[in-house]
Amino acid sequence: MEKVKTVVQKKKEQEMIKEVIQKYRSKLSPSLTRITRHSEAVKKQFVPSAFEALDFGTETPFEEGKNNHGIYGLERIYEDRAVITPYFDCSAYCRYCFKKTRTLAGEAKEMSDADIEKATQFIASDPRIRTVLITGGDPFINPYLLQKVLEQVAPIPHVRNIRIGTRNILFKPETITTELAKMIASYRSINLTQPHLSRNVSIGLSINHVDELTPDVVNAYQKFIQEGVSVRGQVVLLKGINDRFQDIYNLVETFTCTGIVPYYLFHCMPVVGAKHFRTSVKKGLDILRTLSTYSGTTALQYVYVTPIGKHRISPEHHLDYVTINDHRYIRAVTPYKESDFLAFSDNISLPPLHEVNEDGYIISHYLDGYDEEEAFV
Ligand code: SF4
Repeated sequence: MEKVKTVVQKKKEQEMIKEVIQKYRSKLSPSLTRITRHSEAVKKQFVPSAFEALDFGTETPFEEGKNNHGIYGLERIYEDRAVITPYFDCSAYCRYCFKKTRTLAGEAKEMSDADIEKATQFIASDPRIRTVLITGGDPFINPYLLQKVLEQVAPIPHVRNIRIGTRNILFKPETITTELAKMIASYRSINLTQPHLSRNVSIGLSINHVDELTPDVVNAYQKFIQEGVSVRGQVVLLKGINDRFQDIYNLVETFTCTGIVPYYLFHCMPVVGAKHFRTSVKKGLDILRTLSTYSGTTALQYVYVTPIGKHRISPEHHLDYVTINDHRYIRAVTPYKESDFLAFSDNISLPPLHEVNEDGYIISHYLDGYDEEEAFV
């Protein structure tokens, strides 16, 4: 009986993998391929699996940084921040990310000179924007385009923080040169007499498991640190990869002792074909609670991302659950007002499953994940 069940499972699994390969793109860099040979944790993140056929979720967990205020590559949903996406593709596709879907990314590769100029003018026209996040895709795939953005954004007097989001340090560490690090560092500016007029440039590096921190990767981010560019580590909580306390602790400890400042722990977004990666939000909260008993240097901000913005979860957080269409959602009053969201994002209405309370704050409903093992049959 057991044998029959195994044959049935195998057949089903093969059919599902075929379906996944037809449906989603996959891409690995040579450096990443080498890591997958000895790390199951890394392999699971990049090699297509049959579980991706367990379809549930969305191709657009949030509005990818496009066309906000009619400017391609610009996004703004908060008062003090704007996001610029100069280059939309990545050197590898993480299986838990919407970049693997064929309907988004890929085709629209980069912002034009005119787009960058318009985005810069938009930021320059609003002194409330203090932080500019340059993200992707991956800005380090096209350093020339990244430099164009930096050249125009850095001189804006009210921009105090420029953050560059990347995973290319993991995907292609060989492309991170001292010249590149010096170029990035050249946009920092420390004003000794009026420190509040200084401008910082930092890197947000996405790393999910210690196995990703190979000698080449560690050496690559040291180049930025040596030039005075701070590197902050952000982690996506992934079932079967880093969802035990010790996985996260080992990672943040390695972050701190190699010069990375621990920053975000993201709950995995409800993306199509990523159901098997998504733990419950509570699982991350339990890890966070245990982490909060350790040194503050290992602290991470735990967040989940909705179309209206990030929701921070503290170790003392109480989660409220509701059932919608047989699925478990987390209902939360957010710190975001409807009037601000609509004004900053230029949307004309709230996204589905969002409502407003009597004080004008948005109430969101976020699809929770599950901690049970998936099964093919
Ligand atoms: S590097 Fe980031 S944007 Fe690119 S596929 Fe991975 S998670 Fe998505």
